[in-house]
Amino acid sequence: MEVEKICWREREGIRYLIFPRFEETGLLIHAFTSRPLDLGFGRRPREEILRNRKRICQILGVNFLYLTSGEQVHRAEVSTVGREDKGRGALLQEGAIPRVDGSVSNVPEVPLVLFTADCVPLFFLDPVKRAIGLAHAGWRGTLAKAAGKVVSQMREAYGTRPGNLLVALGPSIGPCCYQVGEEVISLFHHRFSDGRRLNLWEANREELLSEGIKEENIVNAGMCTSCHSDIFFSERRDGSPTGRMMALLMLKPEV
Ligand SMILES: [Zn+2]
Repeated sequence: MEVEKICWREREGIRYLIFPRFEETGLLIHAFTSRPLDLGFGRRPREEILRNRKRICQILGVNFLYLTSGEQVHRAEVSTVGREDKGRGALLQEGAIPRVDGSVSNVPEVPLVLFTADCVPLFFLDPVKRAIGLAHAGWRGTLAKAAGKVVSQMREAYGTRPGNLLVALGPSIGPCCYQVGEEVISLFHHRFSDGRRLNLWEANREELLSEGIKEENIVNAGMCTSCHSDIFFSERRDGSPTGRMMALLMLKPEV
């Protein structure tokens, strides 16, 4: 039977989406949020962001003080998050793990998060080794193979077999809207492009396949942040500054 790619949840007026393929494993809590909740530091007063983070975390059953994030610098460094990293970046952007765009962990109750408004958020789950990963891939991160680096890191740190991995691409700017300059198209050797627009979904999918992820284990939400102005922030559409959605992934405690 075909499983739905995404499923919307609404609680206390807050909407977020989940991936049924991830949820049915019973191993984790995960979500991708929607507007109007701005969850990234830098555009609205910090108190407001913290209030918003607290709200969504209460709904998800996650301690907002434990949110663990990287600096997000549009590159492809990946951090292996241990217990001691829990909560980095939860209260202050300066506290985030410096210079990383991806993170992996096998520690339960450490919520990995990243913040996006067009870039592709990628969720990884190894249900066999009980390990998770997140990657942030705009065009720079995609070109630098951020998704592939999360896979390598999971192999190295946890013995993950790519064939066991489930991967999901969250809402992000689609091939319908992502107009880029000729220089960017050239950097991708004119692939994943119709000459004007770049297809980050396809570029990341191909990267995942080349890493040994099975096609049937890749879920693409297929929702364009720029097309859905009522649901998502989009830096391209709204201009800067705009809000940030949050991608969250956390292993549940082992029972
Ligand atoms: Zn679009």
